[in-house]
Formats: sequence, structure tokens, C-alpha cells
Amino acid sequence: MTGLEERRHATALTGPPPRLRTRGAPRRPRRVAMLSVHTSPLHQPGTGDAGGMNVYIVELAKRLATLDIEVEIFTRATSAALPPSVELAPGVLVRHVAAGPYEGLAKEDLPAQLCAFTHGLTRVWAGHHPGHYDLVHSHYWLSGHVGRLAAERWGVPLVHAMHTMAKVKNASLAQGDTPEPAARVIGETQVVRAADRLIANTEKEAGELLRHYDAETGRVAVVHPGVDLQRFRPDARGVEAGRSAARSRLGLPQDALIPLFVGRVQPLKAPDVLLRAVARLLQERPWLRERLVVPVVGGPSGSGLARPEGLQKLAARLGISDVVLFRPPVGQDRLADWYRAASVLVMPSHSESFGLVAVEAQACGTPVIAAEVGGLPVAVRDGVSGILVRGHDPADYARAMYGFADDPARRTRMSEAALRHARSFGWATAAAATADVYKAALHDHRLARRIS
Ligand code: UDP
Repeated sequence: MTGLEERRHATALTGPPPRLRTRGAPRRPRRVAMLSVHTSPLHQPGTGDAGGMNVYIVELAKRLATLDIEVEIFTRATSAALPPSVELAPGVLVRHVAAGPYEGLAKEDLPAQLCAFTHGLTRVWAGHHPGHYDLVHSHYWLSGHVGRLAAERWGVPLVHAMHTMAKVKNASLAQGDTPEPAARVIGETQVVRAADRLIANTEKEAGELLRHYDAETGRVAVVHPGVDLQRFRPDARGVEAGRSAARSRLGLPQDALIPLFVGRVQPLKAPDVLLRAVARLLQERPWLRERLVVPVVGGPSGSGLARPEGLQKLAARLGISDVVLFRPPVGQDRLADWYRAASVLVMPSHSESFGLVAVEAQACGTPVIAAEVGGLPVAVRDGVSGILVRGHDPADYARAMYGFADDPARRTRMSEAALRHARSFGWATAAAATADVYKAALHDHRLARRIS
């Protein structure tokens, strides 16, 4: 990737730091305290509270460590049996903090445990010299609250990533979804105010931070997430041969049309829209039934947890149980095979801060049909590496799927473009851009301390 392309994928809205002199050149932090209170980087993504943010933290931390920035990730201990710390990779440590009862706490119960978490974090800090961590990077608003207290106490800058925002989520709720509470909106607003830098996944998210949360333009930076191109890649024999081999390994028919869903099964991701679109497809092209398989890979999450069997019931009501395969979440190496085997990945999401699965599928040579929401117009090149659909009418998704059923050459064309598009995302680029954001945050923070 050229320097220009890299910059395009990591556009800092921050602009250059102010032209005041400080002692020495702006430097990167040596050690970052990364906070992920509500979900652990060691959890299996694709179910419950574990998803893209977990993958993001793991991949980012590993790449930051290769830039000589050590990362300690603090997360809530969810079992008494967990060791106090685990080495995730060289230079990356996961620390378990006891805060509240181990098992059985829902994300909604966590605000009451933030004080205990902050106490646990501070105890770890107190066991080192005061400058042990020179920056706090928090993920999601719950961590942001802990982060703002820790950063103030330690005299270091706070960098925060929202991942999702209550105001944005509430504006695009799926039917049956519970709105995010006012307390979260207030909490997010406080974190935005306290953060020295906010990292947004896309320009669109940056705009939402400015518009909905009154963030200061100079404090918002855009860093596109990446994809692990070593893991998510076509088979060495090529996309077509690899698809055939992956289908054999997964026990899927060679000649089937396979629209794939991957992710947490929750109303916001709209797997129901995919099932309704499949029912429609079969109504209009009944002969496809013999050669249609619709895998849904992932576990229940959020309000989907309350009724995990809801989607199975819907498939039965629609009369398509025979073509839908429900599969529990799988490790990412196995997931790469599902992407390789699929004809197309379908993401009818109501809201998506970025949509890592879209880039992972494309990196395996599989085009994507996605709703035109959130970060998906960045993750998918409309009409080139996939198709973006406006709204959530199942008829529109059925029509987009016909395209792949009726015109195999189209898949081949889009598959090549998908590979090219996915290659423009990389975690190394994301980590380098994040390190620059850290540098700017440290610079401004030092300056502010000298002035005050
Ligand atoms: N994932 C996984 N196994 C599964 C399903 C999903 O490892 O069975 C991972 C997937 O590779 C992706 C992440 O979960 O990296 C989901 O991220 P995405 O941004 O698509 O959605 P989010 O969970 O953040 O809403």
C-alpha cells in the first residue's frame, strides 16, 4: 500500500498539533492501559457481548506491540478461576479485574460495578512506578468512564473509541429492540467531553460524534479498522478451487447458491430480513430449493439472548427450515472456510459501526450484499465488490441475491474486486495511525499541563 493510500485509510481530522514548542519531539507512548470492561479479548467473538470490538482490540494491541508500544488490556473477570493476567502475545498482557459477581452479570448491570473496576485498576497501577502507563485507551462508553477517572488520576491523556453510540443506535432500532437508556447517552456525552482524542471508524462516525455529541473537531481522528489478510485469504489454488475445497470440508453441496450470514444473532443485525428474503426468493424461483443453503453462523446476543430460538421459529413459519443451517460461533480459521464456501455474504443490518465481517468475507474473495448503513459503504464498494441495499425490504435483498443466482460471471467479477478492496485494509496501517493519534494526544496533553 502506498503512503497516500495509507493516509486515505487513516485520515486524521485532528490536523497538525499546535505550533507551540515543547521539550523534545512528540513521542509515542511506551505502555498503554487499554480498557475493555464489559467484554474480554479472550472471549470467542460472534455471540453474547463478544464481537468486532474484541477482534479490534486483539489485532490492534498485537500490532501496537510490534511498534514497541506495550499494551495491557484490563477487562472484568467473569470467573473466579481466571488468573490475574494472561500474556496474549509478546508485549500484550490481559489483566483480569475483579468487579462485582463473576458470572451472570449483564452489560446493563455494569454501570454499578464501574467504581469497583476503577478501584481494581488503580490497585494494579499503584503496584508500579507512577509513570508506568503513559496513556489510557478506552473502548465503549463503560470503559470510557473508568478511563476518564484513571487518566485524570495518573496525569495521562485519554484516547477513546465509542464503537457504538446510543443516539445512533436508537435512531435505527429494529422491531422488538430495546432503546438504549438516557443514562448511556449522558455517560457517552461525559466521556466525549473528557477524551483528549476520539477515534472513529469512519468519516461518517466522526460526523456523528460532532453532530450528536458536540465533540471538538480537532479531537476526532478517523482510523479504519483492518483485516487479518494472512488468515482471511482465498485458498492458494485460487478462489474457485478454494470454494470447492471449503465446501467439501464443511459438507456443503458443490453447486449450491449459498448466501451466508455471520455475526451475533440480534435484531440489530437483521438476520430475519435475510430469512424473509430467502422465502421470497423461493416463492419466485421454486426450482432453487434443491440448490440453496443458507448458513447462519453465530450465537445469540443482546435482546436476541432472551429468545435465542426466535430465528429458528421464523424459519419454520416461513417454510424454509430445510434450507437454513444454524451453526454456533466458530474460531476465525474455521470462519475463513465459511466465507470461502459462500456465494455471497448478506448483512441486512439496521446499524453497523463498521462491519468487520464484510471485509473478512471480501478478503476471502466473497462479495457482500449489505444494508447501506453505518460503516458498510466504506467496507463494501457498491456495485464493485458487492451491492449496497437501501432499507430493509426483503424483496430488495431477494433481488440482489437473484443477481448471484442468475449470473455466475457477476460473482467472479465482484470476487476479484472484493479481493482488491479488502487488501486496502490492514491492521498494521490501523495500528500506525493509532500510534500517531497517541502521539498527538501526548503532545497536546503535555502542552496543556505546561500552560496550566
Ligand atoms: N466472528 C467470529 N466467529 C463467528 C462469528 C463472528 O470470530 O462465528 C467474528 C468475526 O470474524 C468478526 C467479528 O466476530 O471479526 C464481528 O465483527 P463485526 O464488526 O462484523 O460485528 P460486531 O460484532 O462488531 O457487531
